[in-house]
Amino acid sequence: MKNTIFILTISVFVVFYLSSFAGQRSNEASKPLTVNKVAGTIYEVKGGVCNTGFIITEKEVIAIDAEMTSASGKEMINLIKQITDKPINHMILTHSDGDHVNGLPGWPVDINIISHVNTKKDMERNARRAGLTEYLPDQVFIDRMILESGDRKIELLYFGPAHKDGDIVVYFPEEKVAFIGDLIFLDREPLIKTGNNGNSFGIVNALKSILKLDAEIFVHGHGDIVGRKEIGQYIKDMEERQAKIKGLIQQGKSIADIKKVLYPSGEPRQSGKGRRVSLVEIIYNEIMAQ
Ligand SMILES: [Zn+2]
Repeated sequence: MKNTIFILTISVFVVFYLSSFAGQRSNEASKPLTVNKVAGTIYEVKGGVCNTGFIITEKEVIAIDAEMTSASGKEMINLIKQITDKPINHMILTHSDGDHVNGLPGWPVDINIISHVNTKKDMERNARRAGLTEYLPDQVFIDRMILESGDRKIELLYFGPAHKDGDIVVYFPEEKVAFIGDLIFLDREPLIKTGNNGNSFGIVNALKSILKLDAEIFVHGHGDIVGRKEIGQYIKDMEERQAKIKGLIQQGKSIADIKKVLYPSGEPRQSGKGRRVSLVEIIYNEIMAQ
């Protein structure tokens, strides 16, 4: 069984490696960017291909994610400049997906880029292909980092592999706001990059850790802002699906049978180029490897 899973994992890795970074949802239409105030001086930038954001502190601007293209990156800078003339000194990357980092070349080359250590590793592997050789993170961390800006302290937190293995949460305790990258997807199935050690149980763990924060407002990469209730429901849905699959495995059901039960009207179309493994199959593989 383990050998089969190993071969499966390798083939999944190859597919994901080829499809998940530079070509991330390149067929998705990019929309004009708009800025919305989230709380205090924290803003969300909607449009493009993913949601990004920034905070204006007393001395500078700190951006969260860089957009998918250089043009969108520049558009985001222009929108920030319409609100403040403070320098944009830092760029925090929530994770390494192309729709969040490939816009970096639109930003000043000397901007201080901060990410999880695994995000930097993933970007290094793909830097030449994605045109990011001059935009690799300058500062990395493993579990937690405090970014100080004037009298503000912004917490960067890592809760283990989830959507990928470098997803971080940008937490603003004063405003009870957290940017959570792609740890949730509201309008489609959770996206788990198994080629980057993504894991459905890791998603549950990360979201439970997020709910331990004193936060009420959660900005994520693809959809509208959510509250604690929506995150709680997301955890419940994932746990129910995991338990159901585990139960069917214990009854001796095959993956084909389990898919028929969990996807009665057929497997959902997976986003992105190339074949993506369905969530049910990912959870099945995780349980079989336990
Ligand atoms: Zn994304």
